[in-house]
Amino acid sequence: MQLYTKIMIALILGVAVGLVANLLDFGWLVAFLVGIRQFGDAWIDLITMVVIPLVVASLIVGTASLGDITKVGRIGGKTVAYYLVTTAVAVTIGLVLSNIFLRGDAGMSAEALEGLRGQYLAEGQSRVELAEQAPGLVEVLRGIIPRNFVQALANFDMLSILFFSIFFGAALSGVTAAKRDPVLGFFEGVNQAAMIMIHWIMTLAPYAVFALIGAVIAEFGAEVLGGLLVYSLVVVLGLTLHMLITYTAALRFLAKLNPFQFLRKIRAVQLVAFSTSSSNATLPLTIETAEEEIGISNEVSSFVLPLGATINMDGTALYQAVATMFIATVLVGDLSLTAQFTIVLTATLASIGAAGVPSAGIIILIVVLEQALPATVDPAAGIALILGVDRILDMCRTSLNVTGDLTAAAVVARSEGETLTRQEAAGAPT
Ligand code: ASP
Repeated sequence: MQLYTKIMIALILGVAVGLVANLLDFGWLVAFLVGIRQFGDAWIDLITMVVIPLVVASLIVGTASLGDITKVGRIGGKTVAYYLVTTAVAVTIGLVLSNIFLRGDAGMSAEALEGLRGQYLAEGQSRVELAEQAPGLVEVLRGIIPRNFVQALANFDMLSILFFSIFFGAALSGVTAAKRDPVLGFFEGVNQAAMIMIHWIMTLAPYAVFALIGAVIAEFGAEVLGGLLVYSLVVVLGLTLHMLITYTAALRFLAKLNPFQFLRKIRAVQLVAFSTSSSNATLPLTIETAEEEIGISNEVSSFVLPLGATINMDGTALYQAVATMFIATVLVGDLSLTAQFTIVLTATLASIGAAGVPSAGIIILIVVLEQALPATVDPAAGIALILGVDRILDMCRTSLNVTGDLTAAAVVARSEGETLTRQEAAGAPT
């Protein structure tokens, strides 16, 4: 059976058993579900364990090769700039929607929220105290530079870790090949080992999903489901808007293409991304579609698309923004503007460090949560809350990720003077 089928079954079973325990007031079943939550929490510790090696290695390797890419010239610089800008726009859309739909109570009653907070916040801590701990903007920016990188690693100071890794990677690209290659080879090895660890950990995901969703629903009832539904709908709405506004505008004005024709032609790619939840696995089809359906040159597509599958994840970044806001609303209360600014920064940078494989987004979400939530709130609590619905959202965000890569390829190709003839000649009038 496919992993995602197992996760879906675990989700449905967890919700069903949790609801039965809660609605029929089966004390023993509630106690059992709350008990096996330990397993879910242990699983989250496992994925958290992989975060730092994964992010550090993938950013160092990514940035060191970006050095070469910008040397490759115009195309490299343009592509990276376009990727960063669209990702920041995606995060902003996520934040705006969250401010509209998720502020206050995220669709849950005061009792349910208090109950959830009571479970996750340290004894005697009030929300006001937490809000007061939030650092100001200058402090956040100033704090990005770590005096001691090892200390930043130990404290999980994610912005500092991202900063150092990118800085180090950039410097590494300036080192002579003989000295650079062994270092790069080491980090490539770390990166690949981290991916294998993720793969192993994910085989346990269905059990963790069952334990975590079962426990939360047994304790807090159907209301949490309502909250999760609102959260999921906000993510899906954000993804849709980013496609319909940002990509449509980029296609129309930068690539000079008919956006709807373009989206029709890439439907198969979106569907494969949706069903595999992996930009990497979709890559061969993405490249073929870019060349055969849209008429993008091999020169552009073979460079822009593999790079995009690795560093350009608008869907993932948008989802991380909404997830952080939802988790904050439930556990802490509304986030300040400064905290939201750090989300734009961390989610944009962190999505570069996310691999194009299933569930990479929720692992990297830990990075954003570490940075945006008050230090006293354990990100694991937030992950536990949303893990149940993550697979479905992974499918949706991966679809947007590949759409973003293809849009970028069209924009870059046009800016290089390509005519994208197949699109224009073969497309039906709309
Ligand atoms: N599954 C996504 C991708 O491959 C990454 C993520 O989990 O957000 O693009």
